[in-house]
Amino acid sequence: GFAILNGKIIDRSEAKVDIEDRGYQFGDGVYEVIRVYNGKMFTAVEHLERFVKSSNSIGISLPYKTAELSGLLEKLIDKNNLQLGIIYMQLTRGVAPRNHAFPTERITPTLTAYTKEFARPDESMKTGVKTILTEDIRWLRCDIKSLNLLGNSLAKQKAAEAGCFEAIQHRDENVTEGSSSNIYIVKNGVVITHESNNLILKGITKDVILDLCLANNIPVEERTFTLEELASADEVFLSSTTSEVMPIVGIGDKKVTEGQPGPVTKKLQKLFQQEIEKQCNK
Ligand code: PLP
Repeated sequence: GFAILNGKIIDRSEAKVDIEDRGYQFGDGVYEVIRVYNGKMFTAVEHLERFVKSSNSIGISLPYKTAELSGLLEKLIDKNNLQLGIIYMQLTRGVAPRNHAFPTERITPTLTAYTKEFARPDESMKTGVKTILTEDIRWLRCDIKSLNLLGNSLAKQKAAEAGCFEAIQHRDENVTEGSSSNIYIVKNGVVITHESNNLILKGITKDVILDLCLANNIPVEERTFTLEELASADEVFLSSTTSEVMPIVGIGDKKVTEGQPGPVTKKLQKLFQQEIEKQCNK
């Protein structure tokens, strides 16, 4: 297949980066994952805008206009013949002799992207998934989609070892987000999810879901909620680019909604499906 390296589409096997790239040594960079349905990007503008925002927030300026980048990604999808999958894209500060402080000389950021076939998780979306709880040990800028994913990775590994799909993280008594997803509870018909501040990533899928709620008279509260509220919720679900609207039917050894996806979750899945069709129909 093909990949993007610094604005050029080249053979994947030729896409090589220097061992002193700051992304490799410091996790000094940002990334995005974009869903592709029917060969078309879903919420591309939103992902590209977040990519720019993340990189600006750590002082890296994207050396391409977003429209340019979008065109390049479309070309990559085409060349790789991708119908259903994802694009992974990352930007690092670039290559410089190792030093924690940024290089004083101007360096060119390293941009890479590739595609991967990735099916929709149809079965899990029907049955729901199990999760575990874990303390959120990450830093205080979780709003930046940075390459520093060790905290997220350790949390996900804990879930994997427990045979679970996701780890729900909490700071003391407050639920923040999953290791690679946003978390929601439903109580008395109200959808509740953590406000988008420095403690979580503002999910693009979250934004789509909140818009769908608004348009369909489903009440929403964007606010911090506690472990106690999580435990007594009527429904729990998560969202991400790859997982869409995913019912949570277990937390630790406790069942949620009697081990079945709940009605509000199912309604949102249906609305999300319609949104995909609207944006990515051939
Ligand atoms: N929170 C974290 C920590 C993530 O890594 C992700 C990305 O998958 C999300 C939330 C969900 O974001 P999005 O809906 O943009 O994929």
